[in-house]
Amino acid sequence: MDLARTDLYLDGQWVAASTPGQTVAVRNPATEEIVATVPAGTAADVDRAVAAARAAFDRWAGTTPAERAAHLDRLHAALSVRADEIAHTVALELGTPLKVATRIQAGLPLAVLHSYVELAARPPAEETVGNSLVVREPVGVVGAITPWNYPLHQVVAKLAPALAAGCTVVLKPSELTPLTAYLLVEAIHEAGFPPGVVNLVTGTGPVVGEAVAAHPDVDMVSFTGSTATGRRISHLAADRIARVALELGGKSANVILDDADLATAVRVGVGNAFLNSGQTCTAWTRMVVHRDRYEEALVLAAKAAERYRLGDPFDPATRLGPLVSATQRERVANHAARGLADGGRLVAGGPDAPVPDRGYFVAPTVIADVDPDSALAQEEVFGPVLAVIPVADEDEAVAVANNSRYGLAGAVWSGDEERALRVARRIRTGAVDINGAAFNPLAPFGGYKQSGLGRELGRYGLDEFLLTKAIQR
Ligand code: NAD
Repeated sequence: MDLARTDLYLDGQWVAASTPGQTVAVRNPATEEIVATVPAGTAADVDRAVAAARAAFDRWAGTTPAERAAHLDRLHAALSVRADEIAHTVALELGTPLKVATRIQAGLPLAVLHSYVELAARPPAEETVGNSLVVREPVGVVGAITPWNYPLHQVVAKLAPALAAGCTVVLKPSELTPLTAYLLVEAIHEAGFPPGVVNLVTGTGPVVGEAVAAHPDVDMVSFTGSTATGRRISHLAADRIARVALELGGKSANVILDDADLATAVRVGVGNAFLNSGQTCTAWTRMVVHRDRYEEALVLAAKAAERYRLGDPFDPATRLGPLVSATQRERVANHAARGLADGGRLVAGGPDAPVPDRGYFVAPTVIADVDPDSALAQEEVFGPVLAVIPVADEDEAVAVANNSRYGLAGAVWSGDEERALRVARRIRTGAVDINGAAFNPLAPFGGYKQSGLGRELGRYGLDEFLLTKAIQR
């Protein structure tokens, strides 16, 4: 299978990058082999992409909601026929087990895209306030910079609402997982979007990402990735007071109260922490358990962890794939080792547990007795490492949950839903799930504190790409 890509997508055409021959290698993290290369774009390529997006803006912003919805509907159809290819590509470039990749890496973005077909058709209504007509208008040219952990979902969560709002886009996907973005852009081309409405520039963060974030003609930068890079992007955008939307890291708490259904809470909690090898920004990486149920919870967590069989993402028996890169593997193993050195008790896995010889694997790891102030409880690990913390009561559970510079997500488990709701309200994060509630693609998604600015998904995601104007008469 030759997966090499040689072109960028600019102004409705596949064209060579300005420095042909300069490429970024894409590895299969399960075999460590290079499976493809993509162009290493430059600032000059970003200039061309932004110019195309700027030239396309007035016409695209002037289309009706129905026209934009029709384009998104055709895109949804073109992407749906690629669902298997998307799942295979994510399994290959990221290492997500194929079954999970099919359900989440392909299924989730298709569901989100579908939601924007409807939201595009019914944009926020104009309002009359006194003698003012309040209207909403697209923000302009959007630079979208995305990470590797959900390579299609993170892109769709920006592109679909931006396009629905009437914005044009320059996309810079992660250099670690750029192949899925090519499938999306092929579908965009097939769906007949006007030239320049969507442009793709692949390459590295420091070169292409910085050029997008710093470009004077990019009106808004929508970024998902690490808090450190988000901070850098904010600085670059601040120079011209450009808008930013930031979806950053997390260190979410899974609060298990004394009256919870413990077996379910622990099983679902471990599954959440290990989803996508722990490379999920919302992962419940701190399990906060009432002391009365603590030892019982650890036994259940160890058993649950054992079931996460490591291996080839294409093997149906595999439940846990590798991490995306050698660098991530080292980081994650170091976090686990540090957690143990800081007084944590190993319950499952660990940095020395056996893993396949090839591939960037870390064993599913559970560490108990983690000090809430220690590095393992404070730093985002982004790997299959769960920290378990005992607490004496509800107040201490809330205090531990809120003892974080992050504020992205979390969970509460209790036999009493009113009690769970009370606790959920006290947790300072952008989302809290009670008793394993289902994911809602229409709910606002985003962070408090250093987990970000702005919201994605549903009408909240659409709002990010709209400006508000008052016309007095
Ligand atoms: P990253 O910040 O290194 O990279 C994200 C993107 O930014 C990539 O496309 C990268 O090329 C680009 N980039 C890197 N340096 C840049 C720079 N100086 N200027 C402009 N762009 C630059 O993050 P990552 O390693 O790809 O992803 C992992 C991190 O992302 C984790 O910390 C995770 O929590 C976070 N994340 C958050 C969410 C969320 O929705 N909150 C989702 C996924 C990942």
